[in-house]
Amino acid sequence: LSLLYKLHKLAPTTPSRLVAGATSAHNDRIGLFRGDITHLAVDAIVNAANTSLMGGGGVDGAIHRAAGRQLVEECATLGGCETGSAKITNAYKLPSDKVIHAVGPVYNDAHPLRSEEKLAGCYKTALELAVQHGVRTVAFSGISTGVYGYPSLDAAMVACGVVKTFLETEEGRQGIEKVVFVTFLDKDVRAYNAVLPRFFPPA
Ligand code: ADP
Repeated sequence: LSLLYKLHKLAPTTPSRLVAGATSAHNDRIGLFRGDITHLAVDAIVNAANTSLMGGGGVDGAIHRAAGRQLVEECATLGGCETGSAKITNAYKLPSDKVIHAVGPVYNDAHPLRSEEKLAGCYKTALELAVQHGVRTVAFSGISTGVYGYPSLDAAMVACGVVKTFLETEEGRQGIEKVVFVTFLDKDVRAYNAVLPRFFPPA
């Protein structure tokens, strides 16, 4: 893993090149954005929520602040959400149409596979919910890579792996036009620059 990372740090592929030079099966369906997810006018943004779904710090706090009070009022009707799963709401004052609230695991380095299974569950459930609700463009925050402590490179590999697999299913082929990975900090930008070309290679 670390070798892979080092190799790509030597020759990083910029997201614009990755997307512009697209000829492989999925490149035109994948994007990388660095910045505040609350500014994105996509069909749905994916929040890194907690099991209460009642708001919190980090990206969750930013999403709730930007969406306004009505978001927490809708969330209060949902009865929380299990770790590794997700629920969908309206987006109120946000420029997106929907918010998908995914609950990532607190990273447990004694049981990395258990964490991986939960993180993969977030991405998979979010994509399934998207298709069920007619959401064709979806932007993911870096679920669990903040306060929950999931190593950025490992998290990016899980995210890309699940998304790639889903885009290849019938459901994904028909239902999803574009998936954007949203990064905020340098460590996550580096992780996606390393991992994206492995999963969605430029021609
Ligand atoms: P978790 O508890 O799941 O780790 P955090 O909100 O602490 O959730 O972090 C999740 C990711 O969201 C981190 O990569 C963090 O850098 C990023 N992040 C924080 N604020 C924003 C924002 N406004 N837009 C996009 N990403 C953000």
